[in-house]
Amino acid sequence: MPVYEMRAEYDTEDGGPAGGSPLKAWHMVEDDAATALCGRELSAAAAVQPEDAWGTPAAQPFCHSCGALYLRHTA
Ligand SMILES: [Zn+2]
Repeated sequence: MPVYEMRAEYDTEDGGPAGGSPLKAWHMVEDDAATALCGRELSAAAAVQPEDAWGTPAAQPFCHSCGALYLRHTA
């Protein structure tokens, strides 16, 4: 069973944790992948959170497509 983690998307094209770019949304990715379940390319330098944080306030705002796909993958 694949391992998942959450990876951040930022409001800037090449945004990353450095510089404090505003967080746009959290996406779910397979462990160490840079492409979200919804297909969005994320920066390898983006912040990550463990899968455990899904469904908690720390994971807001969360990508709706990734949420639906993640539930399907883990159902
Ligand atoms: Zn997504």
